[in-house]
Amino acid sequence: MAETIFSKIISKEIPADILYEDDMALAFRDVNPQAPVHFLVIPKKPLEKLSDAQAEDQALLGHLLLVANRVAAEEGLSDFRLNVNNGAGASQTVFHLHVHVLGGRPFSWPPG
Ligand code: AMP
Repeated sequence: MAETIFSKIISKEIPADILYEDDMALAFRDVNPQAPVHFLVIPKKPLEKLSDAQAEDQALLGHLLLVANRVAAEEGLSDFRLNVNNGAGASQTVFHLHVHVLGGRPFSWPPG
């Protein structure tokens, strides 16, 4: 997989406001927040997008959601929205899998 801005955040080549880190995952604030709280949860494994995940990634994908829960709680969120953009047609711009976690304001449905 090609280097991305997120792989450079993982390797600490570029800075980020990191909220959580372990062997498998990293959570950091989105640089262009779309809500009062907006952070991203990414795997350290270089997966370009969700649809590249395989059966062997089951535990990793579950872990990303548990990290989202944990950091959301630490940020004081009870209600929050998770979003994964899969592919350019779904507005994915950084091709390293990431889960958006947004909170601190009301959200409408369906999303735009
Ligand atoms: P997506 O459109 O789903 O690919 O989302 C990519 C997200 O990454 C956007 O919300 C950007 O604001 C965010 N982003 C891009 N560069 C950085 C960075 N250096 N640090 C934190 N977030 C970033």
